[in-house]
Amino acid sequence: MAYEIDYIPVGEGERGGDAIALRYGPALEGLQKQQTVIVIDGGTKESGEALVEHIKNHYGTTRVDIAISTHPDQDHASGLCVVLENLQVGALLMHKPWEHAQEIKNMFKDGRITASGLEDRIEKSLQNASDLEAIANRKKIPIYEPFQGIDVGMFHVLGPSKEYYESLLPHFKDMPTPKTTLGIFAPIVKTAEEVVSWVEDSFGVDLLSDDEDTTSASNNTSTIILFNLDGRKILFTGDAGKTALLQAIEYAETRPTPIALSDLVLFDVPHHGSKRNINSKVMKKIRATTAFVSAPKDGNPKHPSKKVTNALQKHGSGVYVTRGGSLLHHFQGNARGWGNATPEPFHPRVEE
Ligand SMILES: [Zn+2]
Repeated sequence: MAYEIDYIPVGEGERGGDAIALRYGPALEGLQKQQTVIVIDGGTKESGEALVEHIKNHYGTTRVDIAISTHPDQDHASGLCVVLENLQVGALLMHKPWEHAQEIKNMFKDGRITASGLEDRIEKSLQNASDLEAIANRKKIPIYEPFQGIDVGMFHVLGPSKEYYESLLPHFKDMPTPKTTLGIFAPIVKTAEEVVSWVEDSFGVDLLSDDEDTTSASNNTSTIILFNLDGRKILFTGDAGKTALLQAIEYAETRPTPIALSDLVLFDVPHHGSKRNINSKVMKKIRATTAFVSAPKDGNPKHPSKKVTNALQKHGSGVYVTRGGSLLHHFQGNARGWGNATPEPFHPRVEE
């Protein structure tokens, strides 16, 4: 089984995102009829356009077998609209939060909330996701919700479970006040002049914090997918946070046939390498030869966090960051004459 996995650059400065294309098949060159093409998130409109060109030029096709929207954030979903509009897509995997209104309507303080009122509110709030659904419906592309346990031949959905997904929905932005606080979303205090203090880091030291999960509810609904291409395992994580990743790991470990995540060939580092999404517990379970980070050019120094790229190196990964460039990981694929990417160096000093 040959494969190519491409990270398309997304954004500059504060605006990043994910845009990932992959294809696999018995052989890739000249045998496009036998290849399967998958797109995972499309980043912004611009990166969505770049994805379309990439698939036409490098994969030699206008067909995408499966498009996957990991979660409804604009920096992941809006480029997928461009992919759906411009290529023939066989199926779309995405969550449809508005279809869970009935199940979650009693999770709010206000007892008068109806399922239909909630449904409208969610559709309006998550415009990128409702746009995606509208395009798919217009183009008669079937939509399936990717929940834990779904097996689609070469890939397996490790998370989120439907139950966990629905527990997160009331905590999405623009929702009425939920009855419960998840207790994991501590406010992120930002001061005007954030003082950066530095600490030394070295192999043998663990600086990752096991503190509470502070990523957004929406990020934690990210679809976590494991590809197994003839024993070569690749894990995609969207913007999943610590809680979501630990749930996916637990599911993988406790299945009747457990799935190890300590022998990956490629790990898609969640949420652009933010230190809010990875902790020591996650790092102990997930090990990969290579780790890819999608992060914008000239961006937020926390994307990726030096603590995270260092921790990955301590666990044996070669780490590569897009920063405005493309990244390709392949096995018996076409290297296209591209040069070797420069791995992220180990940073002896990191932000505290
Ligand atoms: Zn993101």
